[in-house]
Amino acid sequence: MGGMRPEASGSAGRAGSANGRPEGCALVTGGSRGIGAAIAKMLARDGWPVGVNYRSDSDSAEAVVKAITDAGGRAVAVQADISDPDAADTLFKRLEDELGPVLVLVNNAGVRADGLSPQIDNDDWDRVIDTNLSAAFRLTRRALRPMIRNRFGRVVNIASIVGIEKANPGQANYAASKAGLVAMTKTVATEVARRNVTVNAVAPGLIETDMTEGLGDGLLELVPARRAGTPDEVAACVRFLTSSDAAYVTGVCLTVDGGLTA
Ligand code: NAP
Repeated sequence: MGGMRPEASGSAGRAGSANGRPEGCALVTGGSRGIGAAIAKMLARDGWPVGVNYRSDSDSAEAVVKAITDAGGRAVAVQADISDPDAADTLFKRLEDELGPVLVLVNNAGVRADGLSPQIDNDDWDRVIDTNLSAAFRLTRRALRPMIRNRFGRVVNIASIVGIEKANPGQANYAASKAGLVAMTKTVATEVARRNVTVNAVAPGLIETDMTEGLGDGLLELVPARRAGTPDEVAACVRFLTSSDAAYVTGVCLTVDGGLTA
């Protein structure tokens, strides 16, 4: 710990060599669009080679990789549907071969399938819980041993204010998945804290992405900041939690919501 220095902001060098961190890479699930794309680019600017995971949108994932490499960083696009139980192994093996051990895991990929509770069928329930919660657990479980071995690890789970502070009618499945994610975050954090591995969550409010298209107009009235957040504003919080500056921050859920839940 004593030898670790905060990352040089804006450096695009290989992790470890210039920044006092072990050699390794970052994996951002759902990194092809929205919040995940912003996180992937920001971590690359901090010097992490980045695995940009996507499910179906390869063009967007390749565009994120190009933006990173054009700026002097390293990235690869990795297709995997994280709701597939074998995806964690496939993703990690590919990245371990190409970029080194995954020392930063951002569980960002998420879906919603909204409806009032009587209308949420088993498929909608299972799909949202599988993608948002079970997959994040499987990826975290796969990530921990190499992080412990390298004596450095950062897991950041993208939750939501609807999982912790603000009920939103029509999102019972989504809210349950995100509340579970926060509970998992805190529990795992206590298990690995003494290994220099931190596990935190970020809970965005209303952020301008494809996921929230058309949702915002009425809701904005309720946001003290009177605007939606940007993916970069969420990514900045993730960046902090992955940095050496946040080495003593673990088991927390950082809200980014323009005051909506204040
Ligand atoms: P988005 O624009 O809809 O992007 C979702 C991303 O997740 C895409 O890259 C998508 O890849 C990927 N993805 C979805 N299912 C996947 C799967 N099974 N396997 C692999 N990748 C998958 O979403 P966003 O708004 O950026 O949200 C990102 C995270 O923030 C989510 O966890 C969301 O719940 C959370 N969040 C968002 C808001 C908000 O206001 N936007 C608020 C609170 C929390 P493809 O395009 O290839 O399918």
